[in-house]
Amino acid sequence: MSNYSSAILNGCTNFNHLILPHDCLLCGAANGGDALCPACHADLPWHQAAQCPRCALPSTAGALCGHCLQHAPAFDRTLAAFTYDFPLDALIQAFKYGHQLAALVPLAAALSQRVLAAPRPDVLIAMPLHPLRLRERGFNQALELAKIVAKNLDLPLLPHGATRIRATAPQVGLPWKQRAGNLRGAFSCSVDLHGKHVAMLDDVMTTGTSLHELALTLRRQGAREISAWVVARTLPD
Ligand SMILES: [Zn+2]
Ligand SMILES: [Zn+2]
Repeated sequence: MSNYSSAILNGCTNFNHLILPHDCLLCGAANGGDALCPACHADLPWHQAAQCPRCALPSTAGALCGHCLQHAPAFDRTLAAFTYDFPLDALIQAFKYGHQLAALVPLAAALSQRVLAAPRPDVLIAMPLHPLRLRERGFNQALELAKIVAKNLDLPLLPHGATRIRATAPQVGLPWKQRAGNLRGAFSCSVDLHGKHVAMLDDVMTTGTSLHELALTLRRQGAREISAWVVARTLPD
């Protein structure tokens, strides 16, 4: 059995209550089996502001933002279901670090809904996690997300479409300017993507540096068009 599946099985005691009818993860209200009650679901920080089509940061009338005009990222568009604000941040952390897989289901459903009207990709690739990080956490949250979205939208997922070849310092502790250098050459991909539209999936997009670096790698494999699909977009203060 792979490290991955044994980690999932070892986590089963944590997951058990998630399969049974349970209370709303946010307010605790008795709820017929969904992870969030309708009120909490409606109150999530949906990303509905006019936004740059390329990076999903708020922009006037939905025009390309100044940053994308000057330094276009290597991907063509970003779709984000939410902004990374309370209580979305708490839900993502519960899922990522607390193994609360139920928190993922409504988030993946919201992302699936968000991308429905967007150009349909040929394949999905999840943001890879370095093997060391994967061993620590037991699962790759982006891959778990991508599996649900792939199923919801009936799209093929390349589960090992890209790999992280360098164990980089966690981006979180780095000044924003150092993040790009930290990630250069961090990914590899051996799949032929010539002529393909690829959607990259991740849970949170902060600066977009990881997605940009991954997109550069996918372009080298021939990807014609690249979308970034993320659950939540961090907005500047
Ligand atoms: Zn609730
Ligand atoms: Zn932009």
